[in-house]
Amino acid sequence: MAKITLQNLAHSYHTNPSHEDDYALKELNHDWVDGEAYALLGSSGCGKSTLLNIISGLLTPSQGRILFNDRDVTQAPTSERNIAQVFQFPVVYDTMTVRDNLAFPLRNRGADAHYISDRVQKIASMIGMEVTLDKKARGLTADAKQKISLGRGMVREDVNALLFDEPLTVIDPHMKWELRTQLKSLHHEFGHTMIYVTHDQTEALTFADKVAVMYDGRVVQMGTPQELFETPQHTFVGYFIGSPGMNILDAQINGNTAVIAGHAIALGKSYGAPLGKTELGVRPEFVSLSSDGAGLPVTIKRVEDVGRHKIVRADFQGTEINVIAAEGAHISPDMNRVIFDQSGINIYNDSWRIAPQED
Ligand code: ADP
Ligand code: MG
Repeated sequence: MAKITLQNLAHSYHTNPSHEDDYALKELNHDWVDGEAYALLGSSGCGKSTLLNIISGLLTPSQGRILFNDRDVTQAPTSERNIAQVFQFPVVYDTMTVRDNLAFPLRNRGADAHYISDRVQKIASMIGMEVTLDKKARGLTADAKQKISLGRGMVREDVNALLFDEPLTVIDPHMKWELRTQLKSLHHEFGHTMIYVTHDQTEALTFADKVAVMYDGRVVQMGTPQELFETPQHTFVGYFIGSPGMNILDAQINGNTAVIAGHAIALGKSYGAPLGKTELGVRPEFVSLSSDGAGLPVTIKRVEDVGRHKIVRADFQGTEINVIAAEGAHISPDMNRVIFDQSGINIYNDSWRIAPQED
């Protein structure tokens, strides 16, 4: 197991990158703490696989260094990095049995036959394939083959890190939950450093201790699920995490007041007078409806009952503001205002969160 350090790392697929836009991965400095379970979350094309492949050594970065426990491995081939990587689509040997596929990484390292047999049995039970162990991989479904790939990734206990690149994409939805739970228990048992790439926030937030949110080639925030929820450091994190995501409204900020289309909102804290584009972010959980004349004037467009609560879609001068109301809340037509709970307000300057000034 290892701590993984990225120093001034950046990558461009162009031979002569000249502009920031030429970089699929913008300059990045980061430590992945030994033994933690991370998720790398972001939409398609933001650079997740690029980053993972640089860590595993499939790709040499155009700039910067990678260290495993402070040893520079930037130029070391994949085989020397001692990493298990599972990809989006199955990588299995069709002519081998499931058992031999699972045993392969262990045999390759010259493990003892007894150990191999026990370990293969254990992994087969984790991925639910005990009864298929002696079947050839060839005839199996894509779903089953991907489970073998996952099993092969998990079979070695002595790896520096386990990297998963959207490994559940081809897996049946209700098996997904089961496998994710198995990965989590594997993490608890062995304490490997794990990096799990996904574009699905639920997957990321349920799997990981820490989530790195990527946007446009950058890790815009690395934090616990709670930090991503309460203090998104970038408007993208606010918008991407949560369902629905954070409401983000253009606002002029002046000390402890935000002015949104002429309506003043008290912030309770002071933010100075930031220049550039300023926005107020507030999650739907911190917005409530009112009818007593205070707050921003809105028109309720739609109410969606999603079981645990209601999502109210309100319109404020052409901008949608989402409100989360309790399941049993009564929503009446005269509710034509929204009020923001001050504790849930974040202020953004050129898309990055700014902290309030200390008193
Ligand atoms: P993700 O895994 O988050 O979907 P990728 O890391 O695969 O994103 O891709 C990041 C960016 O780099 C995208 O714009 C993608 O088109 C580009 N890219 C990925 N692989 C290559 C490649 N082999 N050659 C050129 N561009 C690539
Ligand atoms: Mg990818």
